[in-house]
Amino acid sequence: MPKVLVTGGTGFIAGHCIKQLLEKGYDVVTTVRDPEKGAKLVKTLTASGGSKLSYQIVKDVAQKGAFDEVVKSTPNLDFVLHTASPFHYNVQDPVKDFLEPAVTGTTSILEAIKDSAPSVKRVVITSSFAAINHGSNKKPPFYDESVWNPITWEEAAQDKTKAYRGSKTLAERAAWSFMDTARPTFDLVTINPSLVFGPAAPHLSSGDLDSLNTSNLRILHMIQGKMKEKLEPTGFYSWVDVRDVAIAHVRALEVPGASGNRFLLLTDYYTNKRIAEVIASMSPELRKKLPANLDEAEDDLPPPEERYLFSNKQSIEVLGIEYTSLDKSVKDTVQSLLELGA
Ligand code: NDP
Repeated sequence: MPKVLVTGGTGFIAGHCIKQLLEKGYDVVTTVRDPEKGAKLVKTLTASGGSKLSYQIVKDVAQKGAFDEVVKSTPNLDFVLHTASPFHYNVQDPVKDFLEPAVTGTTSILEAIKDSAPSVKRVVITSSFAAINHGSNKKPPFYDESVWNPITWEEAAQDKTKAYRGSKTLAERAAWSFMDTARPTFDLVTINPSLVFGPAAPHLSSGDLDSLNTSNLRILHMIQGKMKEKLEPTGFYSWVDVRDVAIAHVRALEVPGASGNRFLLLTDYYTNKRIAEVIASMSPELRKKLPANLDEAEDDLPPPEERYLFSNKQSIEVLGIEYTSLDKSVKDTVQSLLELGA
């Protein structure tokens, strides 16, 4: 079976991608920062037998040449899936915490493959809807794969609230620009998901709640009663399920027509009220963790004249994505969080 290198194997999206790749019989080599986490990842994801998963250490993707050794020492690679990039809300230094790891990580992996892995046919990079969405509320924009967030390095470097969005945009721009100038023998696909909910990373187990990924935190906080007095404002109001994101990554490796494309992955709009209503329907115990007057809580989706529009058509037509419903996604997320000890 083909061999895939997945960077950042300890991540939420990467964990689901690795699980699906192993289920389909691929050989997977992944990179992690911490050997203990790597050993646990391999043990958990190969629990049902087989030894098609192994890990290598890449301490910091922000270091130039970070992937050189791994790529050189992993012969006969067919595909690379680059997911490793910071995603958290604890920004101290936008450049060091976000821009450098995102951009240098992306260029380092592409350069390493071009220099040392001629067998690689395709690279899939986890970009983001943040690289498309330009955050304008003036007139509702229409978002599809033709749109780019116009943010610059300077803007992202000076504003902590823009650091993550800038990091994803500039990393993806660097990747396409590398393809234009270096003209490697492999081709490139990017996956641009909106906010991702869904069951926690499959390698996490009871007691691992501290390692929960950032985008599931609002669901965790709801079932922990942290929004019992009042639901927090929804803020960013579109989403996609992690299993759909993982399917998209795997199909992006396999579908010839995916070559050279970006894919916006976005199921629909949601609000915190809609998530809370699904949680409340699950059990009387969970209902108690939420505001008593949930029925009267504001459904704070912006009105149509202020809301952005989007098209996920390309992900459906080319990658065959069948989007998971909010109801299923939230229920499965909650179930997985309860299993982790929430
Ligand atoms: P996670 O935080 O779960 O995973 C991030 C991964 O990147 C982890 O494996 C982490 O390692 C690794 N990483 C971060 N910084 C470095 C570094 N400097 N050097 C080496 N490894 C590093 O996030 P997600 O799975 O949610 O995100 C994965 C990708 O998907 C990211 O590129 C993110 O931008 C993108 N994305 C995520 C969305 C979401 O809503 N979750 C939406 C759109 C895009 P460690 O475990 O050691 O910290």
